[in-house]
Amino acid sequence: MEIAPKMPKSWNQASKPHKFCPGCGHGLVLKALGQVIDELGIQDRMVFGCDIGCSLLSWDFFDVDSVQTHHGRTTPVMVGIKRANPDLIVVAYMGDGGGYAIGSQHLVNAATRDDKITVILVNNTNYAMTGGQMAPTTMPGQKTETTPYGRNVEEAGYPMMGPEMVAAISHEGAYVARGSVARFRQLKNFIKKAIENQMAGRGFSFVEALSTCPTNWRTNAAQTWSFLEEQMTKQFPPGELKTPVVKEG
Ligand code: SF4
Repeated sequence: MEIAPKMPKSWNQASKPHKFCPGCGHGLVLKALGQVIDELGIQDRMVFGCDIGCSLLSWDFFDVDSVQTHHGRTTPVMVGIKRANPDLIVVAYMGDGGGYAIGSQHLVNAATRDDKITVILVNNTNYAMTGGQMAPTTMPGQKTETTPYGRNVEEAGYPMMGPEMVAAISHEGAYVARGSVARFRQLKNFIKKAIENQMAGRGFSFVEALSTCPTNWRTNAAQTWSFLEEQMTKQFPPGELKTPVVKEG
């Protein structure tokens, strides 16, 4: 008997096989999101926005309305869609390059304004699609194409602590968390809470997902896991950084 893989209903069954490299963490983040869309029954109300970089390879993953933008502009595009259609549930999906570098102003302003959207940002510590250059999240001492001797914080500064920043500037209805693809159920729970927070109309919701990029890290399976679990989680501790104040009545 042939057993078909269990796919979230929201996945686009007509799409081609995914285009991520073997061992890439993007697929796990998207699987978590797909399961949440199904569990919340919001497939018909969902608008999925993806950025440039490897995150754009998600544009035909879901059987939902989708839009692709560039360089962190996914956040303001989803803000516009949400403001024009408040009943829609919108998710802006991006990488650390787009969200924390070129598009950081959009993230800061959406969190400060308390726009009621959900941003999911994948942190794999490098600019992946362009070949593995130093990103805002590259860790001290980490080797990349543009830091061949390791990131020297005296020259290149310290990595961006995105959820910590968003937690500091957002308002009492915000939800902010950092998960990891190595802890799938926790990551999915964070994504679910972030979308539920948007559905309740409480405030801005943000989840950073620690993810793998074995292609640019140049790691085998064991090294990839060790880099994620032993090095990244020390620099970027997973957990909830802010939960919304729920008002009675
Ligand atoms: S380059 Fe890295 S982030 Fe991009 S698809 Fe490959 S493993 Fe994933």
